Amino acid sequence: MGYRYSKKISLPIQNIAASARLIAKGDFNQKVKVETGDELQDLGHAFNSMTERLSSTIGELENEHLKIRSVLSSISEGLVAVDNENRIMLINYSGRDLLGITESEVHSKQLECLIGNPVLREAVGKILEEGNLGLREVVLEEPEHMVLKFSYDKIHSDSGMREMIGKIMVVRDITEMRKLEKMRTDFVANVSHELKTPLTSISGFVETLKGGAVNDDKVRDRFLDIIEMESSRLSRLLDDLLVLSNIETSQIGMGRKSEIKVKKTVIEVFEMVEKAADGKSIELESEIPDDLPNLYGNGDWFKQMLLNLVDNAVKYTPENGSVGVSAYRLDSDVFIKVKDNGMGISQEDVSRLFERFYRVDKARSRDIGGTGLGLAIVKHIVLAFGGDIKVRSDEGKGSEFIVRIPIDRARASDSTL
Ligand code: ADP
Repeated sequence: MGYRYSKKISLPIQNIAASARLIAKGDFNQKVKVETGDELQDLGHAFNSMTERLSSTIGELENEHLKIRSVLSSISEGLVAVDNENRIMLINYSGRDLLGITESEVHSKQLECLIGNPVLREAVGKILEEGNLGLREVVLEEPEHMVLKFSYDKIHSDSGMREMIGKIMVVRDITEMRKLEKMRTDFVANVSHELKTPLTSISGFVETLKGGAVNDDKVRDRFLDIIEMESSRLSRLLDDLLVLSNIETSQIGMGRKSEIKVKKTVIEVFEMVEKAADGKSIELESEIPDDLPNLYGNGDWFKQMLLNLVDNAVKYTPENGSVGVSAYRLDSDVFIKVKDNGMGISQEDVSRLFERFYRVDKARSRDIGGTGLGLAIVKHIVLAFGGDIKVRSDEGKGSEFIVRIPIDRARASDSTL
């Protein structure tokens, strides 16, 4: 009797103990069945509801943890948190990427020891030493030029004590931003210089005229001619700047779009440069098939692009030369070639040709009325049309600018609007 009685009590307790051991190992699907009708049965029920609660609470926690991990890994900024001994508590993918950490298991490892780049390691070391809220920019030259911006601070525990439990840093790659800033400041400096040169010249001649030269008819006329030339250069420069800024600001759209007949545009452009070409006895030739498909986009921009190329070809080709425009279709693109047999461009200069204000021969370009913006405008327009431009040139023999424009891209993007 005593044996059976003790069995009746000990068996359910053994069951509960076995389930508790499984729960401790992480298996929360445990349910005990105790039907003794006494306090042991109550204990069994309490045990079961405890495992249910435990299971759902741990599930919720895991879910929260997963959400936080997903949010952290989708942030493009690098995020690194270390404890008071500078051991990694948390790091996201971008953090690993920007700091060049390749090791897969990094948790609890010393942050500095994982960074291979010596410049970066030193900078991070200083940040960790400092700890307080701050900002630091680090410029790397190896393996490639890169500017990283660190913002960092201490981490305080959320508990009432608010004691410091580590440090956190956010890393951003600001290489592109710095490059754009430099381009902007260079551009402003260039524009100011370009505007200043004719203005200085104009005010110089006005001064001289006021100083008495106005009484000499010949000198006065010559000076007035120069002033007129310089003011029209200023006006051309401002026109080009406006065109450039217009294209840049409406890059996403394209302004007014319409069907573009390439042949018709070439004829119009030839009419515009005819006088200059005749003046140098330069022959203008075109070869455009009648069945060339129309393009679609901003017709004014297209014409401006072609005009800049043809105008350059005429400007940089000596007397008795020839300038030709040809166009053809290849697959889903239209290619337009503007070819001259003029002075050509060296390979070294070709790579910089499309930069704003870049001229191979500054004095020569100025003398013939160039602003240095023509090809920058061409490039922007070609890009807005979804195409590209290539240059083939032989110094002393001539140049060929080849523009590729996709036929249906612009139209297709319109229909999806
Ligand atoms: P610019 O107003 O000085 O002509 P562009 O941007 O149109 O400015 O052209 C930049 C430079 O490229 C010119 O200064 C010139 O040196 C060179 N260039 C452009 N087109 C030609 C060409 N067809 N033949 C030779 N050089 C050219």
